[in-house]
Amino acid sequence: MYDAVLVRYGEVGLKGANKWVFESILLENIRIALQGLKNVTVVKRSGRILVQTNGGPNEVLTRLARVFGIVSISPVIIVNSEMEEVMTACSALVGFLRGKIKTFKVETRRAHKAFPYTSPEISRIVGGYLLRRYPALQVDVHAPDVTIYIELRAGETYVFFDVIPGPGGLPVGASGKGLLLLSGGLDSPVAGWMAMKRGIKLSAIHFHSFPFTSERSRQKVIDLGKVLAWYNQGITLHVVNFTPIQETIMARCPEKYRVTILRRMMFRIAEEIAAGQRIQCLITGDSVGQVASQTLESMSVIGSAIRMLLLRPLAGLDKTEIVEIAKKIRTYRISILPYEDCCSMFVPKHPATKPKLDIIVEAESKVDWEPLLREAIETVETLDIDATWLP
Ligand code: ATP
Ligand code: MG
Repeated sequence: MYDAVLVRYGEVGLKGANKWVFESILLENIRIALQGLKNVTVVKRSGRILVQTNGGPNEVLTRLARVFGIVSISPVIIVNSEMEEVMTACSALVGFLRGKIKTFKVETRRAHKAFPYTSPEISRIVGGYLLRRYPALQVDVHAPDVTIYIELRAGETYVFFDVIPGPGGLPVGASGKGLLLLSGGLDSPVAGWMAMKRGIKLSAIHFHSFPFTSERSRQKVIDLGKVLAWYNQGITLHVVNFTPIQETIMARCPEKYRVTILRRMMFRIAEEIAAGQRIQCLITGDSVGQVASQTLESMSVIGSAIRMLLLRPLAGLDKTEIVEIAKKIRTYRISILPYEDCCSMFVPKHPATKPKLDIIVEAESKVDWEPLLREAIETVETLDIDATWLP
């Protein structure tokens, strides 16, 4: 029945060059998200994007639901801007809904000012026609079961009833690039999703310590990357062999500062990789007070290892709120798989909750980290994950 999916996007606050950049990034992201689907073309029509589907739009709707910047979408019937054709299309929609609705109303928007009827006239004429065709139905202008929308333009008219909310936010890439520190846990994928929602194009970095952590824990992170790739229109995942650094920390650093120093080393490596790729910020899944390494004191000491901007999008969220988002974005089931990221023997019984920077710097000074960091960066494994994987 449907010919296309009409995509509406936010223009509030967008002017001039910004608007053009926003639109072209969104258009490109939609094209990438729909890659591989047959008989689908994406075109731009004055303030709207139209995805011509030529058949069932279900898969298109699923994929568009993951493209940030989209405010809402509607499957539409497209006809010539002629009264007869508009009435036939509206009648097809109501026929489709028959049995599910008792009342309706017709709402018209007319961009085509030369059309011989005004918007209220069109609504009235079409409404009358529908009442004659479907005598069991009634018009209710205040609280109808369904609203039939007619969007009349010079060349063509869109007829639809369904307005599905989109994910909102800004198209990824419109705000620049960020590097997500992706562990196998619940928090970091959600942090990445929130950054993408604000238009940050993600890359991800994962620190792996084989054989302390298993091959399956690495695969779990790749699977999380595949889900993030839906929203990010593909993702580059860097996997760092962290074993030599982790072993050195275990052998040479005071037990209670292990996690603090470990995180500082992660940040140093991430910052260097990010800088080489014109990435402007690092993103973590830290939430204030969640664990010892996420007190304000710890986060401050850990963050001071680098100069790059650090975003912690989950700072103010409770675990229950994070879990709720993880379920919604489909990372939850992967995150709760039992393959632990950090070996339990590494985490001390009594980690420092209020580390002091001078003491940490002193503890770090006992080791020449430079060659270890260099080796970790030089041996990084880089995976390009595309956006079309389905779980
Ligand atoms: P998550 O926070 O994702 O649930 P977690 O709770 O096991 O995982 P934390 O100990 O809370 O991890 O670590 C805080 C943050 O540090 C994580 O959200 C993530 O951004 C980063 N991080 C921790 N471990 C790793 C790792 N192995 N690789 C990449 N980033 C990591
Ligand atoms: Mg956490």
